[in-house]
Amino acid sequence: MLVMKFGGTSVQNAEAIERVAGIVRSRMRQRPVVVVSAFHGVTDQLLAIGTTAASGQTESAITQVQELRQRHYDTARELLGDDRFRGMRLKLDPKFESLEQFASGIAAIHELSARSTDYLVSFGELLSSQIVASALSARGLPALWLDSREYVVTDGQFTQASPHYNETYDRMRAGIRPLLISHQLPVLAGFIAATRDGITTTLGRGGSDFSAALVAAGINASCIEIWTDVDGIMTTDPLLCPQARCLRRVSFREAQEMAHFGAKVLHPATLVPAMEKNIPVLVLNSRNPKNPGTRITAQPPRGRSLFTAIAARKNISTVTLTAPPEAAPHWFLQEVFHVLHRSACGADLVAVSEASVSFTLRAGQSSDDLLANLEEIAKVSVEDKQAIVCLVGENIKGRAGIAARAFTALGDAGINVRMISQGASEISLSFVIHERDVTEAVRRLHARFAPEKHSEQKAKRQKPASAPIKPPVESDAVGSPISAYAE
Ligand code: ADP
Ligand code: ASP
Ligand code: MG
Repeated sequence: MLVMKFGGTSVQNAEAIERVAGIVRSRMRQRPVVVVSAFHGVTDQLLAIGTTAASGQTESAITQVQELRQRHYDTARELLGDDRFRGMRLKLDPKFESLEQFASGIAAIHELSARSTDYLVSFGELLSSQIVASALSARGLPALWLDSREYVVTDGQFTQASPHYNETYDRMRAGIRPLLISHQLPVLAGFIAATRDGITTTLGRGGSDFSAALVAAGINASCIEIWTDVDGIMTTDPLLCPQARCLRRVSFREAQEMAHFGAKVLHPATLVPAMEKNIPVLVLNSRNPKNPGTRITAQPPRGRSLFTAIAARKNISTVTLTAPPEAAPHWFLQEVFHVLHRSACGADLVAVSEASVSFTLRAGQSSDDLLANLEEIAKVSVEDKQAIVCLVGENIKGRAGIAARAFTALGDAGINVRMISQGASEISLSFVIHERDVTEAVRRLHARFAPEKHSEQKAKRQKPASAPIKPPVESDAVGSPISAYAE
C-alpha cells in the first residue's frame, strides 16, 4: 500500500491533473491512496476573500468567490467533458453557494475568527479533491472520494491543529484499508481535518504533506510519495540559490530539521508519523516523473560530507531579556520559560548567559500580551526582520571547527551574525542574521560547502529564480562538499 500526495502545482490545472492521472495509473498495482492539496494559489485566494469580507467589502468578496468558481468549473469541464461536468456541478454548486453565503456573513459581522478561517480555507482542498476524484474515475480508475474530516481527528487549535494520533489511525485502519483490499482508489483532501465534534480544522500551511503521512501511518503503507514541483529535496531552496542540486538520500532527522528551519518542500510534522512507523518518504516531481527523486529513510546517507543541506526561515524576531540585577539566574530562567509556556510559544533558538537570555520567535508569536508578560520580569528588546539560516547534516556531530568556517564565510561577505546555535540534535548549526542578508548568506554557504566542481547534477528548477545570480564565491579548499548524488 502506498500514499501519493499531490501538491498545489501538481493539480494547478487540467493538464497537471491529467499528468496526475497517468502517475496514479502507473502505481495502481501498489494499491495507492491519493491525497491532494488545493489548486495552486487557492488557499491564499480564500484567505484574501476572508480579509476582504472581514473589512466589510461584500461585493468584492463575492466577485473573488466567482473568480474561484470559474477557475474550478473551467478545470472540471476540461477534464470531464460536458456530460460528466453536469453531474460534477451538482456537487460543486452547493459549495460555492455556501462560500458566497459565508463571505456575506463575515462581511456583515466584520470578523473572521481562526475557526471560521479553517472553515473558509477547507473549501480549497474539498473542491480540488472532488474534481481530482471525478477526473480519475472518468479515466477508468476506481476512485472513491472520502471526506478526510471523518478520518483525521484533531484538537481545536484552529489553523494549526494537532492530530489525536491513535484515534486517527484507528479510523483509517477501519475505513480505508478495507477499500484498498477491495481494489478501490481512495482520494482524500489534504490539510483539512475535524475535531471530535466534527468542527473543521486545518493542520497548518503546507499541511497536506502531514495528512499524507498520517494516512500512511494509519494504513501501514510501505511508502509515502510527495509529488511536487522540484526534482526532490535539494541542497537548498532553488529559489534562493540557483546552484542548488538534488539529493538522492536524506535521513528522517535531516529532513525534519530542514523542514523545521524553513525548507517548504515538506511540512515539518510529516516526518513524525513516518519516523514512528519507519515508512520511507519519496519526494518526486510530477512534471518529471521519471526522475528518481529523494528518498528519506532512517539511515543517514553514506559519505563523508559535512552538510546535507541549508535551510532558511525568514520573518523571525529576536527577543533579548536582561534580568534585573537582584534576580537569581535560576529564578530568571524559570520565569522566562514559564511565560513562554503560558503563551504556548516555542522558541526555535535560545542563547543564555548569566544575566540575559535571547531567543527567536516566528512571525505572529511575539504578541503584545507575551511581551507585556516578559516586561514584568526583565528589560525586553525586540528586533524584527531577522532570519535563521541552518546548516543540516548527520555528519556535523563531533566535528570541530565547523562553526568557525561557516562564520568566516559569512564574515567575508560582511554579514553580521546575531546568534549562533548548534542544535541539541547535533545535526544542525543555525545562525540568526538580518532578513535582507538571507540570499547572500545561503549562496555563500552553499558555495563554501558545496563547490560547483563537485556538482553531479544541477538543480532542475521549474520556477524562475527570484533573485539575480551572483558570481560564484571562492570555495573552501579543505571543505567537504555537500553530498549531492553522492551515492
Ligand atoms: P507543493 O505545493 O507541491 O506542496 P511547495 O511549494 O509547498 O510545493 O514546496 C515545494 C517548494 O519548496 C519548491 O518549489 C522550492 O521552492 C521550495 N523549497 C525550499 N527548500 C527546498 C529544498 N531544500 N529542496 C527543494 N525545494 C525546496
Ligand atoms: N493548501 C494548503 C496550503 O496552501 C495546504 C497544502 O498545500 O499543503 O497551505
Ligand atoms: Mg507544500
